[in-house]
Amino acid sequence: MKSLQRDRRYRVALFTSFCVACASCVAASSTGSTIAQSRVWTTHEGKQAPKNVILLIGDGMGPEQVKAAGMYAHGTPGKLSFEQFPHQGEVTTYSANNSITDSAAGGTAIATGVKVNNGVISMAIPGDGQPLKTVLEKYQAAGKSAGLVTTTEMTHATPAAFAAHQQGRSQQAEIAQQYLNTTRPEVLFGGGGAGMSPKAAKSAGYTVVINRQQMQALDTETVTRVSGQFGQGHLPYESDGVGDLPHLREMAKTALNILDNDPDGLFLMIEGGRIDHAGHENHLQRNVMETLQFAETVAEVFKWAENNPDTLIIVTADHETGGLKVLKNNGQGQFPQVSWSSHDHTGANVGIYGWGPNSDQVSGTMENTDVFYLLLGQQYVTGD
Ligand SMILES: [Zn+2]
Repeated sequence: MKSLQRDRRYRVALFTSFCVACASCVAASSTGSTIAQSRVWTTHEGKQAPKNVILLIGDGMGPEQVKAAGMYAHGTPGKLSFEQFPHQGEVTTYSANNSITDSAAGGTAIATGVKVNNGVISMAIPGDGQPLKTVLEKYQAAGKSAGLVTTTEMTHATPAAFAAHQQGRSQQAEIAQQYLNTTRPEVLFGGGGAGMSPKAAKSAGYTVVINRQQMQALDTETVTRVSGQFGQGHLPYESDGVGDLPHLREMAKTALNILDNDPDGLFLMIEGGRIDHAGHENHLQRNVMETLQFAETVAEVFKWAENNPDTLIIVTADHETGGLKVLKNNGQGQFPQVSWSSHDHTGANVGIYGWGPNSDQVSGTMENTDVFYLLLGQQYVTGD
């Protein structure tokens, strides 16, 4: 958190010294969106890649969401699990056609290293319209097992960007088809329906589980492909109670125990998908509880990584939602006083936190597209 704040001050200083009264800069700084200097990355992808790569995305989790959750949980910001990671920075979020991204373009930027138009799932639009190879697909080609875990519908935009290719995020039936029959990640844990069905998953060779008990009864040493279809639609909010469905932390733990049977390693994307929904609702309690479950999930992943050397963990967000601003810390166990300025996404930069091999490439202000190269184990050769 400290480095985030320092970087932000540095950037503001640059703005005032070089572009006084420049209308576009004033507009950009008012939304918090800044264009980072482009980095050039080494191209020996795969060669130096970590054995295990785990990416956690808090959908809609801007710096103020992190701060509010930290105040509630610890009485002070800066103490959440991922805020202890050694390498921290911030990430731009704008898409190819909008200063404010949606989760499809935000997920695609991280998954493929290319900024696309809002709504697009990992295809070159603008561009030649061809599918863009994702980090998950690249690691599958390198022999690793792969998984997607989310609290939203399984076929929602963020996970889809890693294992599907569609012109529009609403093509959820087609996204499910591509998951089950084309990319075939070993683990697919998320909300059911929206294109997914137990029948389709079973006929594609997946073991299907539909609640926590079934998920935890899996023999994670022998099962090979699992589709967790938990309820219909998104999973419930943490603060509403998840009933007999699993928490994000539990899904992540089971996913790791399944994927880590592969001697070549794993790629796993875990999304705290409903931080965003609570932000759209301007619902602080839900927002904080979703963010804290996400932080607990990072802690669970960290526990696993400590026993599995050569693991890179990257924690970031695709965008901020709600224009949240913390006004006053009310101490541990109390929700801080806040204001919201939007019911939609904003153009604010978001945090990025790294632990493990190659995480030293996290620094300063990065483009969201840089995260792709970072995940592949590349190092930047020029840029800030
Ligand atoms: Zn949203």
